[in-house]
Amino acid sequence: MIPSVLPTYARAPLSFVRGEGSWLMDADGRRYLDMGGGIAVNVLGHAHPALVSVLQDQATQLWHTSNLYNIPNQQALADKLVEHTFADTVFVTNSGTESMECCVKMARKYHYENGAPERVSIITFEGSFHGRSIGMISAAGAEKLIKGFGPLLPGFVHVPFGDHAALEAAIDDKTAAIMVEPIQGEGGIVPLPDQCLKGMRDLCDQHGILLIFDEIQCGMGRTGKLFAHEWSGIEPDIMGIAKGIGGGFPLGACLATEKAASGMVAGSHGSTYGGNPLACAVGGAVMDIVSTDAFLGEVSAKAGRLRQRLEGLIASHPDVFVTVRGVGLMLGIECKVTNLDVVNAGYDQQILTVPGGANVIRLLPPLNISNDEIDEAVARLDKAATAIEANL
Ligand SMILES: *Cc1c(COP(=O)(O)O)cnc(C)c1O
Repeated sequence: MIPSVLPTYARAPLSFVRGEGSWLMDADGRRYLDMGGGIAVNVLGHAHPALVSVLQDQATQLWHTSNLYNIPNQQALADKLVEHTFADTVFVTNSGTESMECCVKMARKYHYENGAPERVSIITFEGSFHGRSIGMISAAGAEKLIKGFGPLLPGFVHVPFGDHAALEAAIDDKTAAIMVEPIQGEGGIVPLPDQCLKGMRDLCDQHGILLIFDEIQCGMGRTGKLFAHEWSGIEPDIMGIAKGIGGGFPLGACLATEKAASGMVAGSHGSTYGGNPLACAVGGAVMDIVSTDAFLGEVSAKAGRLRQRLEGLIASHPDVFVTVRGVGLMLGIECKVTNLDVVNAGYDQQILTVPGGANVIRLLPPLNISNDEIDEAVARLDKAATAIEANL
């Protein structure tokens, strides 16, 4: 008999009733160190007092009015995003998928309104992930995402990740945009080198096409900059964000320059819930904390500590681990054994990690994780690896 929850996830036999900082508690009071952060969502850990407080306050005031009216919290969040990024304007959504759908619509509308309606195709990359809608599985194109769900949407051209020659060859007079994760997340924590991002920016400028970044996983302070592309010094025209911006509350956004957004006039796009008072209250509070230099500097310091200790861990377990890669607190450990075996061995040590592509376990902890918790995480992974070795 089919379970009452549609069985689209192979769930671990774990369930939590309470969270506090970097820790999750099950009903029996067992404490798990959360190095997955709800897949890069809980940037300030669980039950952060500032977020609980703004959400509780807003809950007693107003939940929903509709975008038929101005929403002060949405305005405040948009102002903060504009102040701290390349963007001039923001459309607020409820999820990453919706953010990326908005990015694609915006890019096509830009060319349509600028006398090039034939420019509709979006170049994307193998190993990418942009969400689960028909549009976004068509965008990523991977067999495991699309199998059985056709017909897919036309208008996406797939090229190998990081292959500049293939990218250049794929550009033609139908190209509207290049859409890319500066660091692939689901694909296994694969950073795009800075010179690749610069090369993409140059190609876009030469050919009059738009550059779209998907910073849903790598953004919001994860790499030690507010957004990962800031390390490269170049800027996109349009960017989708989600995950960390809500700190655990469903929230996303599509950010854009004035030029790229010029086609998005009244009536061209919308959302019932997008930008609602509750989500935007939390998003504003997350921005206030995460966007400060002091906070971002701490992320880099924590990341250095974690990275260094992980290098040691890998060196002492060569039969279990291969290497660590990533930027800041977005790290992937490539495994020699099956990555799921490592994730499961972690559960036995009461530490949560997230499997990813390329046989990786992902570490995407709360950005305010403490030094002691970092050391504890590495100690628990060490025990997990030792347990695996005993059975090899
Ligand atoms: C999670 C993710 C998405 C999809 O976000 P949802 O909120 O699940 O719709 C898209 N792109 C990237 C890079 C992601 O990590």
